[in-house]
Amino acid sequence: MAAWIDRKFINYLSPYLRNFKWSSDTTARCSCPVCGDSKTNKFKTRFFFIQRDNNYTCFCHNCGYSNSLRGYLKEYNHAYYTEYLMDNLRERVGNKSVAYNKDLKNDKQETFTSLCLDPLTSLDKISELSDEHPGKLYCTQRLIPSNKLQLIYYSSAFTDWVNTWNPNKFTTGMLDENRIILPFFSSKTHEFFGCSARTILNKEPRYYNILLEQEEDCPKFFGYDRVDTTREYCLVEGSIDSLFVDNCAAMNTLAINFKQIKNKEKCIIALDNQPRHKEVVKTMARLASNGFNICIWPEDIKEKDVNQMVIAGLDPNSIIYNNVYSGLAAKLKLVKWSKI
Ligand SMILES: [Zn+2]
Repeated sequence: MAAWIDRKFINYLSPYLRNFKWSSDTTARCSCPVCGDSKTNKFKTRFFFIQRDNNYTCFCHNCGYSNSLRGYLKEYNHAYYTEYLMDNLRERVGNKSVAYNKDLKNDKQETFTSLCLDPLTSLDKISELSDEHPGKLYCTQRLIPSNKLQLIYYSSAFTDWVNTWNPNKFTTGMLDENRIILPFFSSKTHEFFGCSARTILNKEPRYYNILLEQEEDCPKFFGYDRVDTTREYCLVEGSIDSLFVDNCAAMNTLAINFKQIKNKEKCIIALDNQPRHKEVVKTMARLASNGFNICIWPEDIKEKDVNQMVIAGLDPNSIIYNNVYSGLAAKLKLVKWSKI
């Protein structure tokens, strides 16, 4: 961390801080953005930024708020926070990479990943959020098991965050925020290579599946690195659905590349329960013809996907593992199922 970077970001913040003023080279003060400082006197300035060693801390003499500048940005300005981490990283990596980049003909934009840093470090895990946080509330309303909340993340500035590891994926200023991030990790290296992102608001697109530029041929599977493919395992369509089933990953597509499926004999593919959805039925038929084990949902289940089954009080785990079909039996059952 470097004091000059902290000062730069304090100056970035200054237009948004009422009565902001540098009172010395190492101290700035303003009206507190946390408590409002104050209802009766708009000229009070009890919020301070003060340099301590190589960093700035901030605190308020009125409400007692106290944090590092880094912590303040993380809490109150996520877009700047990501940029702040990038700046500090560049500072740490030092002149070596800067000099190297100067030699490159097309000056490639630096990203989290080109600097070998995991993009997830700038996000909070859902398990770390308070119970009242909208991201946490969204997950608890969908009944995601609490022991799975450490596997998924929250971004309050989604498009900005993606642009830090996949430059220019989104046009700047395109506001699409507040998403649950379900990261993809390589089964071999366990490194991050993309994510599925579900909006917590009622808007389209509900999902984005985004990969690192160099990984665009990889399967967009969520959780495949955690699955034990030497025993019976399951593949479902949606990332969130996979969190409810034992030894399960999500494919995030119906355009399944069979070559990407490991140890086929142990794999059960459970697509959504949509007997009237042409693409789903066609995919299931294609899977059956190619010798895959598929789950054909019992006819009395009306819920469309695993998560809805859980919300309705059903146990998708036992339903899936007890309704596996393959070969001719699968084809016959499928004909009947698709006519429901
Ligand atoms: Zn305050």
